[in-house]
Parts: sequence; structure tokens; C-alpha cells
Amino acid sequence: MAEPVNLTELSSSDFKKFLDSFDYVFSDCDGVIWSNGPLPGSGEFFKKIKQHGKAVHYVSNNSLRTKQDYEDKFKSSDIENGFENLTIPSVAIAEYLKSLNFNKKIYCVACHETVHVLERAGFQCFLGPDYGAEYYIEYLQYLVDDLDVGAVVFDSDFRVNLPRLYKALTYLKRPEVIFISGATDKHVPYKPGCLVLGTGIFTDIVVNETKRQPVQLGKPGKLFGEFAMKRAGVTDPSRVLFIGDMIEQDVGLGKATGFKTLLVLTNNTKEDMLAHPTLRPDYFAPSLGSLVPLL
Ligand SMILES: [Mg+2]
Repeated sequence: MAEPVNLTELSSSDFKKFLDSFDYVFSDCDGVIWSNGPLPGSGEFFKKIKQHGKAVHYVSNNSLRTKQDYEDKFKSSDIENGFENLTIPSVAIAEYLKSLNFNKKIYCVACHETVHVLERAGFQCFLGPDYGAEYYIEYLQYLVDDLDVGAVVFDSDFRVNLPRLYKALTYLKRPEVIFISGATDKHVPYKPGCLVLGTGIFTDIVVNETKRQPVQLGKPGKLFGEFAMKRAGVTDPSRVLFIGDMIEQDVGLGKATGFKTLLVLTNNTKEDMLAHPTLRPDYFAPSLGSLVPLL
């Protein structure tokens, strides 16, 4: 694997060549533009990159936030029209199902906001239960199939539990039931030094048990990358620079779709980046703010 290039160490002529190598910037949000609050210089970075004639689009795995939450986040980071140019799994899932003329029920192991997006798109959804029965024999109730269910959607369900997995596995026994996953994140960087599990580990349980691969409409799924390209009107992926903070999701998506990749070291050290067995970004930098003086 080629050694990633530290953008902050490039000569001004090499930095100019780097800038000329793409027309579009696709950027992750959490850990790149903001974490708890806006990350210093990120708004300024996008202003300057637009002045260089680049079209900017945002691509997040986070379907949990409402439109209002996203608009507030973009606003506090001093970014205009962020939400209008944002691609998230819930929207991609709705568009995908529309393209299939899907008209059956969807069982959602997903956050409420994803369910709302699907319902607003005209789909009939259900989820739950919130709590499981106490005694194992009562779990038989979760093994009853419903022939009206035509799809199972996994996307950032922080209330996922054993009954929900039973139900998902029951519906997915029928090969015609579509299996879709949004966010795949197995770990979430809440706090340095703490191991925090993401809900993607539950999708993996279902993958292992069903021996089925989901249609992956979240990072690092290629179909999701292509969906973002379509929304942004991009035809040549090699003219896109993808910026992210997660190796699996962001660099993984870039490699799957054919984008150039830039890793910002918000949640990974340079050593973490170099230790990954299969994925390396093309470029890295400490943060978006660190690139502002070069623009
Ligand atoms: Mg991120």
C-alpha cells in the first residue's frame, strides 16, 4: 500500500497539483466538521475550498439526527446549505425502495428518525418490541413470520435487543425479503481511550446467522457512494475527494467507490492509520482547520 501523503507538508506547487486533482469534495460530518461542538476552522475550510471552484457535498452515516438538528449543526459550523447537500442512509434506503416499487411492510431495526424518513416516503413501517419477555419460552412469539413483511432495515438502532434480532431473522428466512443496512459502524469514538460499541455489530450477527449480505446503503457500501454521486451530479468518481475521520467507513467508502481519500486525524493517530491491514487514505491532515492557511 502506498504511503499516505501529509498535506500540511506539501510544497505550495504540490499543494496546487493536489487541488487540481479533484472537482468535488464529499465530506463526512461527525468527527470532521463537528464533534461535540464545531471543530475550529472547518467552516472556513469549506468557504475557501468553494472559492477554489470545488462543489461540496456532505455524506454521513448518521440518520439519527432530525433535519432541524442537522441545520443547527451546519449553522453553528458556519456552513450554508449543508442539509440540502447532505446524503444519509435513511434517504438512500427510501430512494432505493422507491426504485424497486416496493409496496410491502418494512420491519425496522432502526432509529426513529430513519423510520420517519421511510414513512414520509410513503412506506409502511413497524419496529420493536422495546422490551423482551423475561422467560425464554415466551420468546416463541418473536418467531412468528408475517408474510406482509417484504424488507428488513437495520440502521443505528440504539434500542436493539434480542427480540428484535429474533424477528429480523424470522422475516429474513424468506429469500424474497430484502435485507438492507444503513450505518455499519461497529465502534463509535465518543471518548478517547474508551471502547464504545456501535450498532453495526448487530447487523453482523444477522449476517452471520442468515448467511445473507445486506444491500449496504451506508458507508462503506459502494452503492451508497454511487447514490451520493448521483445526488451530487457526479459521473467520474476519480474527481471526488472524500474527507472523513473513520478508516473503515470513510476510507473504505472512498476505496470502494473510486474516490480520492483524505483522513483527518480527529479520532485516529497516524500510527492507527498506518496499522490498518487493508485500507490507507491517499492523504492525511490533523484537521480541516490545519489546511485553511494552505488555501
Ligand atoms: Mg465521522
